[in-house]
Amino acid sequence: MITENIIERVTKFQEVLKAFPEFKYLGDPILRTPTQPVELEEGFIIGKKLGEILINYRKLTGIGRGLAAPQIGIARSVFTTYLDDKIQIYINPKIVSSSNKSNLYRELCLSSGIMWADVERPVSIKIEWINELGVKEDKVFDSFMARLLQHEEAHLRGICNLDQAVAGTIEIQLSDPLQEKIREK
Ligand SMILES: [Zn+2]
Repeated sequence: MITENIIERVTKFQEVLKAFPEFKYLGDPILRTPTQPVELEEGFIIGKKLGEILINYRKLTGIGRGLAAPQIGIARSVFTTYLDDKIQIYINPKIVSSSNKSNLYRELCLSSGIMWADVERPVSIKIEWINELGVKEDKVFDSFMARLLQHEEAHLRGICNLDQAVAGTIEIQLSDPLQEKIREK
């Protein structure tokens, strides 16, 4: 059973490798390179591109909630999220505060191939960014959204989920990621 699951998972990953040659994976130095802030115009172009790729990735895999510029080889401070059937663009985002309390969640990352791991992160954050209309926003997020934004923002600092894994939790992703729940610490 487990062997079949692994074969299925690897086969799906091979489809992703073929369909998205622009994706960068752990070991690529760009994923370890802190990004540079962008001018609005460039931010819009990168954000739009990331959004299109994320939607195509979701069509193939049925999962994927965020994509950051370094993951397609661009060392610029832009990421996108997909939530409630909507793409949102975050240009030059900055986490300005985080809660002391943290929680756990098993995180996937398309740059980590078929592996996932528990990552401990603050429960809530306040983040500033420039949105897809060029308007500066700041907002407090908690729960799943706080988790997603922290994962994407870490990419802009050259940090991937497996770099922040709780020791001993890196595994091949064999169960349904859509069933994962945030757990209290
Ligand atoms: Zn990621």
